[in-house]
Amino acid sequence: MLENPMVSGYGFPDEPIPITDCDKCGMELYRGEVVFEWDTDLICSDCLREEVQGLTLAEKAEMTGESQAHTYQMLEYAYTTQAIAEILNITSVEVTE
Ligand SMILES: [Zn+2]
Repeated sequence: MLENPMVSGYGFPDEPIPITDCDKCGMELYRGEVVFEWDTDLICSDCLREEVQGLTLAEKAEMTGESQAHTYQMLEYAYTTQAIAEILNITSVEVTE
């Protein structure tokens, strides 16, 4: 029979406990993970990539404050979600308690 660690008191101290979840897909987010401010939501990096993919170049340029050509160029070399967020002036937040 499986023991319930909460009851038996042995526990698993290293097991991460989800602190919050993504406002869009509901994925559990753990301490130290980075989420992104999207309108009034906090979304995970997967959702951010999805949202950014749905933007037109004109919309992206509006977010960077640069020309469309420059925006396109900057995003072409942005491989991580964090880099994309920085270019688009999206605030990233580390999940903490
Ligand atoms: Zn998500």
